[in-house]
Amino acid sequence: MTEKSESPDFEMPEQIVLASSNPHKVEELRATLAPLNIELKSSADFPGLEEVIEDAPTLQGNALKKAEYLFRMTGLPSLADDTGLEVDALDGAPGVYSARYAGEKASYEDNVQKLLKEMKGKDDRNSRFRTALVFINNSGTFVFNGVCDGTIRKEKSGSGGFGYDPVFEPAGYTETFAELDQDEKNAISHRGRAVQKFVDFLQTIPNALK
Ligand code: IMP
Repeated sequence: MTEKSESPDFEMPEQIVLASSNPHKVEELRATLAPLNIELKSSADFPGLEEVIEDAPTLQGNALKKAEYLFRMTGLPSLADDTGLEVDALDGAPGVYSARYAGEKASYEDNVQKLLKEMKGKDDRNSRFRTALVFINNSGTFVFNGVCDGTIRKEKSGSGGFGYDPVFEPAGYTETFAELDQDEKNAISHRGRAVQKFVDFLQTIPNALK
């Protein structure tokens, strides 16, 4: 596996398929890739795909599992991501379990409430979001990591974003992610940073913008 490396055999893809049917994520990435002349497809464009069980012990493991399945099924250059929130006072929890912190079918709100409860009385509020982005094509497997440091608020604030956004204050800001607008969040977020590394990687390929 190669971290941010170049391969001489690599050819600029015209299509990439994203292992997600979350319309929010798909649209966000579609807009980012459009200037590179890359058409973004998503799992939703391939009926019959099964849901990949995200049971790997790491974010990268889950992203790899999703990207490998998609590449095997579609034959197209495939991209998948996995994100987790790490909280120091909770020994890194919820981490890879962020989506199901309060239980298998937990809502975003359930997870936020559980986090606020676990953090009650804790002075150390340091935390970070991490995203692992895995890209697979005929040349190989490439991994891009993005991190955003911050702190966990004592109560929710803001109505934008999703997930843990209302309780996460990124370092250097006085607002939570849920109070920033989408572009501001993307510029500094874990996923935004991982995607930017991926875009930089694509742009190192000759003729990338043609
Ligand atoms: P996923 O891997 O992107 O599906 O993220 C797993 C879980 O992490 C989600 O269910 C959310 O609870 C949380 N999460 C991921 N990205 C963000 C974010 O940008 N803000 C807040 N929570 C997030």
